[in-house]
Formats: sequence, structure tokens, C-alpha cells
Amino acid sequence: MAKIAVLGGTFNPIHNGHLHLIKRFSEKIGFDRVILIPTKVPIHKQEACLAEAEHRVRMCQLAAMECGCEVSDMEVRRKTPSYTVLTLEELKRRFPKDTLYFITGEDMFLSLLRWHKPDRIFQLAVICSAPRSTEGMKKMEEYAKVLKTHGAVTILENIDFLPISSTLVRTAWQNGEDISSLVPAAVMAYMERHRLYKE
Ligand code: NAP
Repeated sequence: MAKIAVLGGTFNPIHNGHLHLIKRFSEKIGFDRVILIPTKVPIHKQEACLAEAEHRVRMCQLAAMECGCEVSDMEVRRKTPSYTVLTLEELKRRFPKDTLYFITGEDMFLSLLRWHKPDRIFQLAVICSAPRSTEGMKKMEEYAKVLKTHGAVTILENIDFLPISSTLVRTAWQNGEDISSLVPAAVMAYMERHRLYKE
């Protein structure tokens, strides 16, 4: 029985905060595979300057080379909205004997009960989450108790989070600042080559 982790994201763009999250959970849980799954269009937020899905997938592939992850374009190819429950159902069909772990940061964790079919999500995957604020862990522990009543199995890790977000990366990039400590070098080169987020 393999342990398969999924980090779903808008990845607009992927950055070192995402990779750090994966690394910390991989160290703790020892995943056999980690799959990055970029959303086609985020259903939960209006994203300013959303790069085309093909660019976000490509940047994930470049970042994945650094962390030994895989990238799936299943949500980008799917005609229906990028509901996480559909993604996990598809993975469960492909890997029926394996255990799925869905990784999230603080904000998404605290919104899980508002997602499409949350109880089914909890049947399909263990939820791994980490705070990205100093007071986050306490809120998450309280919320985990509520999720448990919905059948969720959660693993919370109080990791040393990196204060990086995609918005921060895009803003710094638009202002011509050095973003080499925020994203992998290959991602930065890709953004430059395709003039992403410049307008
Ligand atoms: P994102 O902005 O690219 O981020 C992906 C994940 O990485 C998020 O959970 C985020 O945490 C976390 N993260 C980013 N920077 C971090 C840092 N510096 N340290 C620690 N964690 C960090 O993607 P997103 O737009 O939040 O979407 C996440 C996933 O949730 C997607 O797969 C989306 O489809 C899914 N989702 C599904 C539904 C649904 O099915 N109805 C609804 C909402 C979201 P935060 O959570 O704190 O931002």
C-alpha cells in the first residue's frame, strides 16, 4: 500500500513556500509519490492576472524536478470544474489500494467544510495541513475537532512556514525586484521567457 500525496493549487505561480510544505510533510510521513495538481480555473477565488493553465502546469513541472514530485494535468484536461472531490475520486480509481493524502495550507484547511462534498473528500484522503501564520495552529486544531465529527482524519504539523505567497511573487516580479529566493531558478527563467505577470 503506497502513500500518495497530492498538493492541489492554483500555482500562479508555484513558489518555494509550496515546495517547503511538501518537503516538511514528506519528511514526516514518507510519501511514496507526491503529485502536484494545478487547477484549471480556481472555483473558490477571483485570481488577478491568472496565467494560462498550460503555463502554470509547465512551471509546476520545472519546480517538480527540484523536489522529486510529479505533476498531473488531470484538472486542466477535465471539462467539469476543478472540484477536489472529483480529483480524489479519479486518483482512487487509479490507485484503489493506496492511501491518499491531500496537503493544504492554513486558509484552505479552515474552509474545508465549504468545499464541494467535504465528507466524501474525508473518506478519500487524509488531510495534511500546516499553518502559515503564528496564531494559525490553534485555530486549525479547533477546526480539526469539527472535521473529525465529519469523519476526517487530519495531520497537522506546526512547521516553520515560509512567508511566501503567489501574490507576493507576482508583485515583486512586476516591481522588478529580485525573486530568486522566492521561486526555483527554472521557474523564474520561465516567467522571464514568457513575460508572465508583467502587465
Ligand atoms: P495556491 O494558492 O496555489 O496554494 C496551494 C496550497 O499551498 C494552499 O493550501 C496554500 O495555503 C499553500 N501554501 C501557499 N503558500 C504557502 C506557504 N508559504 N506556506 C505554507 N503553505 C502555503 O492554491 P489555492 O488556490 O489555495 O488552492 C488549493 C487547492 O484547494 C486547489 O486544489 C483547489 O482546487 C482546492 N480547493 C477546492 C475547493 C473545492 O473543491 N470546492 C474549494 C477551494 C479550494 P493556504 O490554504 O493558506 O492558501
